[in-house]
Amino acid sequence: MDEMKELFYRDPYCREFDAVVTACRPGKNGFEVSLDDTAFYPEGGGQPADHGTLNDAVVSDVRKKEDVIWHTTDREFAVGEKVHGVLDWQRRFDHMQQHTGEHMMPGIIHQHFGFENVGFHLSEENILIDFDGVFTWEDLMAMEQEANEAIWANKPIQISFPDAEELKSLEYRSKKELSGVVRIVTIPGCDVCACCGTHVARTGEVGMIKCVSLEKHKEGVRVTLLCGSRALQDYRVQLRENTAISHLLSAKLFETSASVQSLQEHEAELRRQLNDLRQKYFALKAESLTPAHLQILQEDGASGQELKDFGNALLSQNKAEIVALFGRGASGYTYLLMSNTVNLRDAGKALNQRLNGRGGGKPELIQGTVQGSPEEIRSTLQELLGSL
Ligand SMILES: [Zn+2]
Repeated sequence: MDEMKELFYRDPYCREFDAVVTACRPGKNGFEVSLDDTAFYPEGGGQPADHGTLNDAVVSDVRKKEDVIWHTTDREFAVGEKVHGVLDWQRRFDHMQQHTGEHMMPGIIHQHFGFENVGFHLSEENILIDFDGVFTWEDLMAMEQEANEAIWANKPIQISFPDAEELKSLEYRSKKELSGVVRIVTIPGCDVCACCGTHVARTGEVGMIKCVSLEKHKEGVRVTLLCGSRALQDYRVQLRENTAISHLLSAKLFETSASVQSLQEHEAELRRQLNDLRQKYFALKAESLTPAHLQILQEDGASGQELKDFGNALLSQNKAEIVALFGRGASGYTYLLMSNTVNLRDAGKALNQRLNGRGGGKPELIQGTVQGSPEEIRSTLQELLGSL
């Protein structure tokens, strides 16, 4: 096969074709089959390989090695065997939409800022493009608008193979120094770029270009891009989520973030009030207690800090020599042991051992978590601390 003369170049819209097997060998994931011609695009230039079938065999990968295109299949073929190839067209057309969009954005950004596209990754989810300069989100939105206007203009995309002389006078983007046949993809008004991938015939088929994120990357920025059906799919998910939020908050679709913000402010205010009430409750409870050597008290829902404040109040009001507090937490029970006069270290260790707990601290303050019923915890604390 001549370079860049394969069926996927001659007719990028070819979905089914007939060919003859020229070689077949065992491969890592089945068999590797080469054909006298193929519509299957092999992974390259950042574009993933096509999938599909050859007769009844599944084609799960296509790669060019030693200048031969090898189709990874799940069954063996005989040399000379006639095959009918069928592409997974949804996958291939998606790659064409993404790849053309991936040329349009950097082309427009290059025109306006002169920045180069220094990295490109087309995955199953999105396109990542790295640039060697910095621009803002507002800049990006303006470039995105221009790209979409170029889509709506529905211009034909031109593929050409200029000779060495023509190439010299042609201004085009390229990721590396090229030799031999150079394939130039021209998107009128947007971009001229050397590329070996498959593209849609007219810009309108890209459907839509949507930039979804812009972040700093090395000396420049990284843009995440969705084109065509992926942009539509993303819009569906965003709408579903935002509609659900708007129903939950009884807010209009375009006012959900303001509604969440006021909800957060309301929650913060409730937390402040709850904290104030807890402090008052602990102070009153401490006052109401009759002094004893050991005070074991259950306080569900209190944070570690609140238990500590309560323990300090009890000790400073001389309500106990030893304070043991526990309360239901997210997983099991949290506990706190405090004393100004008694070393609690051994008791803490014994408690962890007996009730499958974890924790530690200082001789006068031990904190941790234990497993068990409130009754078990209370009786174990009584047993371990009552005689100290
Ligand atoms: Zn390309």
